[in-house]
Amino acid sequence: RGDFQLAGTQLLPGTMIGRALPLVSGLHQVHLSPGYDVADALAELQSHPWVAYAEPDFHITTSVTPNDARFDEQWSLDNLGKTGGTIDADIDALGAWDVHTGVDWAHPDLAANMWVNQAEAGGLAGVDDDGNGYIDDIHGYDFFNHDGNPTDDNGHGTHVAGTIGAVGDNNTGVTGVNWDVQIMALKFLGADGSGSGSDAIEALQYAVANGATISNNSYGGDPFSQIFLDAITAARDAGHLFVAAAGNGNIFGIGIDNDATPFYPAGYESDNVLAVAAVDHNDQLATFSNYGATSVDVAAPGVNILSTQPGGGYQLLSGTSMATPHVAGLASLVWDAKASWTYDQVIDQIVNTSDVLPGLSGLLTTGGRINAATALGNPEPPPPPPPPATLPHQDDFNDGTAESFVVRAG
Ligand code: CA
Ligand code: CA
Repeated sequence: RGDFQLAGTQLLPGTMIGRALPLVSGLHQVHLSPGYDVADALAELQSHPWVAYAEPDFHITTSVTPNDARFDEQWSLDNLGKTGGTIDADIDALGAWDVHTGVDWAHPDLAANMWVNQAEAGGLAGVDDDGNGYIDDIHGYDFFNHDGNPTDDNGHGTHVAGTIGAVGDNNTGVTGVNWDVQIMALKFLGADGSGSGSDAIEALQYAVANGATISNNSYGGDPFSQIFLDAITAARDAGHLFVAAAGNGNIFGIGIDNDATPFYPAGYESDNVLAVAAVDHNDQLATFSNYGATSVDVAAPGVNILSTQPGGGYQLLSGTSMATPHVAGLASLVWDAKASWTYDQVIDQIVNTSDVLPGLSGLLTTGGRINAATALGNPEPPPPPPPPATLPHQDDFNDGTAESFVVRAG
């Protein structure tokens, strides 16, 4: 650890220091030459006087479950009472997002809500016009392929982006939770939905450095990493809210208790992490959804969610990956409405206004599913009382059943 420039130097035989990741002070990637053993190299690095700690670069995957079912409506937004629409027209877009498999930023339902780096949009191809270290990063960056085109070759990021902020009221396709928002595409997972932790940290670093106040993190499964926790804590110190998927169960697809078996990054104990489980359209915890009475905060719709897909179309997907952007989108709406709030106030508002549900009791810190209308201070009126269960018919013929009559006036 140190704040001096180390990239390109050889710390030990076979270990070349790579890129700096200054989101965490002194953090660097280290490349190991062929023929050297990872465990041996880690042990030597740990004992080097310059090194505070060293970890293997971990593997990350998306938190989506395959699903082929067809629905023809976005129940999740119906369930949220379409509240994004109620307040949309006068909201200034302040939020921006980290979408990890990239985004089809030309999708007709997304293009108008993509973040634009104006200096690059009006700049020269092949030139880092704004001097932020990334060439041609107009809508974000691709940390997997190391270029300025974070388009989506997987489908996951475009789906997540549409749930956060597909353009609303445009006579096209679907509607995001926030109709008018800025989505920054930060890709660090490849076409197969997997990638490395160091690229994830660089993406988070970019998000913080370029003004994204919220990140949507629909991935996970890596082991505990002190380095990743330090990165999230550094993002917190910059005021950044980190919304993360609770994960999609064990190898059989059955949700597990994250309190007993932590799932990262949702499980990192930094107070800017908001961990999200998935419910279905009956407000029941999805069978695949992880849970945790102390480690998972809220639930959101995550089964058969209709959203955007690369190439201009739409598709249904299920997973805590799909629940998480509902919360990220709501966080943006709350933050838009309360611009002076800090990340912890936004989290408190979302948590404290969730609908506590019997089916979630004891499974989440809140036991609740998010409620956008209540979170925005505009709760829906209670539904009208149900009609009487039985009409006041009598058993006039005394045959054990109530008679009913049709009476024609006249
Ligand atoms: Ca740039
Ligand atoms: Ca450029």
